[in-house]
Amino acid sequence: MSEKEFLTKAYAQKLDSEDELKQYRNEFYLQTGTIYFDGNSLGLLSRRAEQALHNVLESWKTYGIDGWLKGENPWFYLPEKLGEMTAPLIGAKPEEVIVTGSTTINLHQILSTFYQPEEKKTKILADELNFPTDIYALKSQLNIRGLNPDEHLVQVKSRDGLTIREEDIIEAMTDEVALIVLAGVLYRSGQILDMKRITEEAHKRGIIVAFDLCHSIGSIPHSLSEWGVDFAFWCSYKHLNGGPGAVAGIYVNETHFGANPGLAGWFSSDKDKQFDMEHDLTPAPTAGAMQMGTPNLLSAAPLLGSLSMFADAGIEKIRTKSLKLTDYMLDLINIELSCFGFKIGNPLDAVRRGGHVFLEHEEAARICKALKDNGVIPDFRTPNGIRLAPVALYNTFEEVREVVQILKKIMEEEQYKKFENKRDVVA
Ligand SMILES: *Cc1c(COP(=O)(O)O)cnc(C)c1O
Repeated sequence: MSEKEFLTKAYAQKLDSEDELKQYRNEFYLQTGTIYFDGNSLGLLSRRAEQALHNVLESWKTYGIDGWLKGENPWFYLPEKLGEMTAPLIGAKPEEVIVTGSTTINLHQILSTFYQPEEKKTKILADELNFPTDIYALKSQLNIRGLNPDEHLVQVKSRDGLTIREEDIIEAMTDEVALIVLAGVLYRSGQILDMKRITEEAHKRGIIVAFDLCHSIGSIPHSLSEWGVDFAFWCSYKHLNGGPGAVAGIYVNETHFGANPGLAGWFSSDKDKQFDMEHDLTPAPTAGAMQMGTPNLLSAAPLLGSLSMFADAGIEKIRTKSLKLTDYMLDLINIELSCFGFKIGNPLDAVRRGGHVFLEHEEAARICKALKDNGVIPDFRTPNGIRLAPVALYNTFEEVREVVQILKKIMEEEQYKKFENKRDVVA
């Protein structure tokens, strides 16, 4: 195939016609005239998710309080059921996963329960590129225990401002480290960390490991049980399409079952004992012990629908398409945008590349505004990053091509100069 042919709309359409997952696009609410490339910040609403929410409202309407045990999805068991539905996405056993809380709360719960500083082993190892909320949680947990974060939080440095080298993480695993918290996929560059290797090396040194899967769940496959990962946590509103503020998730490796939750509540209980109303907690013998109070059922319900799509499509196929989309996009960027000062900030190697493309440009903030003005929804990450996420379940190759064409036009016509080079409140 010639380069000329590669650049044509016909070629993009051919890729779309060969796409095994193409029928899922029809299940989503897409805005006409808009190309949505922000599914890694907030995934779109599907008809299945909408229906699932309606079903839970319907059971409230029909059963009142009895909805806890009646209907198609009794509320009392919904967090466990959703955990079971999530398990294949992360390679976990059903009882190792519970849908509860939020990313930040779940990290607090993991730390409260499993971070046990002892003698010399007191430090928490993270990295300097992680999302702020994770770092705030780590520092506050240290403060609560009277440990100074300046001394007890170690953040592995990035050599290039975009990625973290596993060698550097391993080198920082000293005998003073008790616990490691890292992202599975970095939120800016989209780098995939080698979770298997990090876990193996940590375990050799008696260190436990937790991964933040916010940008990896629903986007890449994981084998957490096989890799022996101790804990993981994630949100459900990005690639999982659970809706704004959707209930998040926790994975606890079964070797850690039976621990008393650091932040306990009656929903941490063994389900058969919960309504005995005793004042001594009997924690659930599963990841369910990480729950606290009454689940936010209306924010969990859409996941019933959206996770069923993942079950049907299969995470392997989703990953295959996602890589094709980003490969195609990167090739087009290299050909069409080479003279406009963009730098590709995501890893190129498929083993290290997550679900989005990360472009750096000094005018990034206002290029994003110009993209929105042209009907493309990207997101801006300070100071100079443009994230573009073609999502396997609902984006197309034709859209990828269109976005690159629009970017080219914006640069050629210097359309971005109409806007201020500043981020909005929510970028
Ligand atoms: C999106 C994201 C969060 C968000 O935390 P919430 O508690 O859901 O607001 C946390 N960590 C990472 C790495 C994220 O990408």
